[in-house]
Amino acid sequence: MLKVEGIDVFYGNIQALKNVSLTVEEKEIVTLIGANGAGKTTLLKTLSGLLRPTAGTIQYLGESIRVKPVQSIVKAGISHVPEGRRVFANMTVEENLDLGAYLRKDKKGIKQDLDKVFSLFPILHERRNQLSGTLSGGEQQMLAIGRALMAKPKLLLLDEPSMGLAPLLVKQIFNIIQEINKDGTTILLVEQNAHMALSIANRAYVIETGSVVLSGNASEMQNSEKVKEAYLGGI
Ligand code: ATP
Repeated sequence: MLKVEGIDVFYGNIQALKNVSLTVEEKEIVTLIGANGAGKTTLLKTLSGLLRPTAGTIQYLGESIRVKPVQSIVKAGISHVPEGRRVFANMTVEENLDLGAYLRKDKKGIKQDLDKVFSLFPILHERRNQLSGTLSGGEQQMLAIGRALMAKPKLLLLDEPSMGLAPLLVKQIFNIIQEINKDGTTILLVEQNAHMALSIANRAYVIETGSVVLSGNASEMQNSEKVKEAYLGGI
């Protein structure tokens, strides 16, 4: 579904990604793990067209998206939930969700997807008329995911969905990610919580200082000495 080959990405003179290659197959959950500043967010931003690689190729459903405008990338089915759950604080929950569907015209489909989001996240239905800025951190994360789903993505890019959430909520969010995946959406998940990420992923890539240093099945990675030592707290 997605094939990234040899991409370099710079911020001015700083090279944030070096010759990065990865693939995501349809229906998979693939996770990117790595320390702060490794380049995970940069990679997701590059896939959604917010940053452009200076070298390499990005193929999505057999087409190059390397220079496609952001809107066309969204229309083609890639939806990005950014780090830090950026919801529009002064708009209601429902208005935020409507915004997620701004490129769609199929009213009936939009309504169906709104119902689906409300069934995944009943709390958002309860709070649909509430200003989003007054939601708790966990609820805002749910709203950010719900808004991305309103674009009807084929590939969902999730950046640190567990950040700053209490363990019980983290579990809930990860269960919902699995549900979204079972429903047919492919997922590329960036996480610092490697333990949780590997527990739901099919495959994983480890990124260190802008380069992929390790990749494999999630179960192999869970047993890798290097991963255990560096990312699983030596468990
Ligand atoms: P985190 O989990 O902390 O977000 P990350 O793995 O997602 O880490 P990135 O945010 O992709 O890492 O950052 C990769 C590198 O690029 C870091 O060295 C960072 O300092 C640098 N970087 C990120 N954004 C910018 C920017 N706007 N301008 C300059 N350098 C940047």
